[in-house]
Amino acid sequence: MTISIPFDNSYARLPDRFYAPVRPSAASAPQLLQLNRALAAELGLDAEALAAPEGIEILSGLRIAEGSQPIAMAYAGHQFAHFVPQLGDGRAILLGEVVDRSGRRRDLQLKGSGRTPFSRGGDGKAALGPVLREYVVSEAMAALGIPTTRALAAVTTGEQVVREDLLPGAAIVRVAASHIRVGTFQFFAAREDVEGLRLLADHVIARHYPAAAQAERPYRALLDGVIAAQADLIARWLLVGFIHGVMNTDNMAVSGETIDYGPCAFLDDYDPNKVFSSIDRMGRYAYGRQPEMALWNLTRLAETLLPLLAEDEVEAIADAEAALAAFAPAFERAYLGGLRRKLGLFTEKEDDLGLATALLRILAANRIDFTNFFRGLVDADQSGLRDMFEAPTVIDDWLAQWKARLADEPQDELARRTLMRAANPAFIPRNHRIEAMIRAAVDHGDFAPFEELLTVLARPYEDQPEYDGYRSPPAEQERVTATFCGT
Ligand code: AMP
Ligand code: MG
Repeated sequence: MTISIPFDNSYARLPDRFYAPVRPSAASAPQLLQLNRALAAELGLDAEALAAPEGIEILSGLRIAEGSQPIAMAYAGHQFAHFVPQLGDGRAILLGEVVDRSGRRRDLQLKGSGRTPFSRGGDGKAALGPVLREYVVSEAMAALGIPTTRALAAVTTGEQVVREDLLPGAAIVRVAASHIRVGTFQFFAAREDVEGLRLLADHVIARHYPAAAQAERPYRALLDGVIAAQADLIARWLLVGFIHGVMNTDNMAVSGETIDYGPCAFLDDYDPNKVFSSIDRMGRYAYGRQPEMALWNLTRLAETLLPLLAEDEVEAIADAEAALAAFAPAFERAYLGGLRRKLGLFTEKEDDLGLATALLRILAANRIDFTNFFRGLVDADQSGLRDMFEAPTVIDDWLAQWKARLADEPQDELARRTLMRAANPAFIPRNHRIEAMIRAAVDHGDFAPFEELLTVLARPYEDQPEYDGYRSPPAEQERVTATFCGT
């Protein structure tokens, strides 16, 4: 069976300094762990052929498919506020781009593919655990309706990788609108390569913000577009309790998709200061700081665009500042809109934000499970919601206020419940489940928990009584306190 993948590689047509051609090298005896058949179909790829030996060789990088032009992309980035002028794909290789069934251009990238010219001291490999984590969490995010890179396939490479222990090597085939990052712009800005910047900006406009090409000032419209997309994305993260963990500028995609799942995690109990990432000792990327950090990153993006915004620097800075000023109101609009849906509100009233923040304060003060509280609120009188509190009376006043607010709504109960069920997932990828899944796979070669997590998390907004155990917060001894970057 020969596989035909209709590659059309627009990034590889950009000048040489945008990337380094490099062949994947991490796989010797690959085995397929998982193939996302629905996503393969969306991409117009033949899932049967991908699951056959030749397909597995392609998915692992052992064989280069016809039309693929493997490259490692160059980028820079601020890592925990410290600027590194050259990072780049050190363990990932862009295999190429395909135009999917709905006409959208998508990158196929192999992560865990071996050394590249950007690997610095690293081995270019990925261990099995982080590959499984990225697969599960990125697919869960997609099912939650949040813009994200996707997982097309996971393979073991047949190699061992050296971390604290020897671990099975693995790789993931990731699908993205593109892998262009804030750090990609920083790469050219740091080199004062204005021509490169302009080519990159034009590429991003054509690919992600085509309306900007028609705008009076296309580069300002591009900046506006990225700011709006990120404001919306970060609001969506907060609304499901997602913590990215490493919001460095090299881990922020200009497309507005969530990218680079490392030490990411979901809140169990609601705590705005929550940090899981073992490398984030200062709490820079805590749950509640994510809007502020996104704006920080977008400010770095705006700085790179200054030479394109206006010839006069003062004018360019004023322009960038005007664009950045739109972030906070856009974020607040998206966040408040989402909170209203979570509370079952169709209409907008002045004090809705007050109602929501009063609730969040109570949840934080009483360490209440964020996901289960909101799902329980759908049927507040039957769900045992009050029993989530040690002293149930602490929520009574708030519940009375909420019910009074609902009484003003024109919609009926059924509509309210439908709205709330679609805004409040029953199932999220809880950290203790992810950790248990990784332990089963790595320590015992048992992939049943991985498969089951994928099944449950594919329908996060539906009741799945047979999987009710997945709704439970961790028991004290199951609680995950630190997640690791997964390199
Ligand atoms: P991350 O913190 O995962 O976003 O990665 C930051 C930078 O380190 C990127 O340039 C990665 O390509 C690079 N990197 C991470 N892990 C490895 C590895 N095992 N080998 C080579 N480069 C790596
Ligand atoms: Mg990264």
